[in-house]
Amino acid sequence: MSTQLTTVLAGQEEKLLACIHCGLCLEACPTYVITGNENDGPRGRLYLMRAVAEGRLEDTSSAFAKHIDRCLGCRACEQVCPAGVEYGQLLEASREVLSEAQPKSDVANRMLRLVLRYVWLSPWRLRLFFSASRLFRDLGLARALLKLRLLHSISPRAAFALALLESSRPMIRGTGSSSKSVRGDEPVLLFAGCVGEGLFSRVNRATERVLHAHKLNVTTPTEQVCCGALHAHAGDLDGARQLARKNIAAFESKSDAPIITNAGGCGAMLTTYAHLFANDESLAEPAASFSARVRDVSQQLASTGMRTAETSVETCVTYDTSCHLLYGQGSGETSERMLRAVTGEKFVALNGSERCCGAAGIYNLLQPDMSQRVLKEKLDHVRETNAGILATGNPGCQMHIGAGASLSGIPLRVCHPIELVDQAYERAGVYLAADDAD
Ligand code: SF4
Ligand code: SF4
Repeated sequence: MSTQLTTVLAGQEEKLLACIHCGLCLEACPTYVITGNENDGPRGRLYLMRAVAEGRLEDTSSAFAKHIDRCLGCRACEQVCPAGVEYGQLLEASREVLSEAQPKSDVANRMLRLVLRYVWLSPWRLRLFFSASRLFRDLGLARALLKLRLLHSISPRAAFALALLESSRPMIRGTGSSSKSVRGDEPVLLFAGCVGEGLFSRVNRATERVLHAHKLNVTTPTEQVCCGALHAHAGDLDGARQLARKNIAAFESKSDAPIITNAGGCGAMLTTYAHLFANDESLAEPAASFSARVRDVSQQLASTGMRTAETSVETCVTYDTSCHLLYGQGSGETSERMLRAVTGEKFVALNGSERCCGAAGIYNLLQPDMSQRVLKEKLDHVRETNAGILATGNPGCQMHIGAGASLSGIPLRVCHPIELVDQAYERAGVYLAADDAD
């Protein structure tokens, strides 16, 4: 068994001993709220982790696999815990144990690991994968297959996967502006993300334009790779470290410049590089300083001082906070403020916005039943708002909520908040003014 779980548990021992059994983590946990089973909540999972680490339970035990696999990794429990138990690190170490103990017959998991190893770790294969996905989406094949409804009864999971892809297409009017040559005063580096650049490049271009309008000099390092979040969530910490090493090197040239992300999942992962290399003599320091430089685009705008403008959207706009943006990066509030700044009275709050939507990386494909139950609650709240647009700061949440809404017949468009900021800036002539000033 990996010693990582034992090491992380030892590091958390004081906090675990300080657990006062208040139960706050249970109320915050979406899976516990749904099943009511203590083992589907953080306390029960922590108990299982300790039992495995102490040899009281086999790492191949089905109870361990079932309840750890069912965890969304949303980290809502971590936020409310008065003892400060850092659950996220424990979960990743437990997933590593599981991935090593995985029975050979578990086809879905083996397939996942192969894809993460042989596609995600190879930049050219990953580019090929996303080019094919984009072609499939942009030729309208995903939409056509969904309309035929052939897959809905044969394989709801495959139908949902198609709906996810379809939900990555642009849903609000883009500005059509090309990316400007940037000549601001302060350098910032953009982390583009693999899904981000593969399916949501418009969001990256909008991010660049908005940063440029704030006199920030944006560079997108070409050697950057996937952040490694999918590997870490799947327990492949070696794969996550391989990618992290490349990113640390890719962002080294301007070692003081902030690293800007627009994806909560990537941002949360990038901030954990410090933990990933905590015991690595040569990388502990570079990894810690890399993580300290990471910030969401909304955090950057909040510290720079955001320019005001108003969108021209004709409908109400609501906002869902990505868990990783909120709990992993601590920037859920700045992201909402950024959106409110351009939507004004069109903004309508979403009940339970802080609650996970059920996407959780590829949890929606691996744990479809629980994921759909979590999503149903989110969609019920979306219906209550009557909003025509939902903005969220993470591509995974965008696709998941978009897919759920379209399959449930809810007329909802999904986008990233920065797309609405970009649209508002173009309408207000902010870009023309910025170009004149250049
Ligand atoms: S990470 Fe989320 S799903 Fe997992 S135990 Fe914590 S609150 Fe529950
Ligand atoms: S919130 Fe923290 S202190 Fe309270 S029961 Fe959960 S782990 Fe223990």
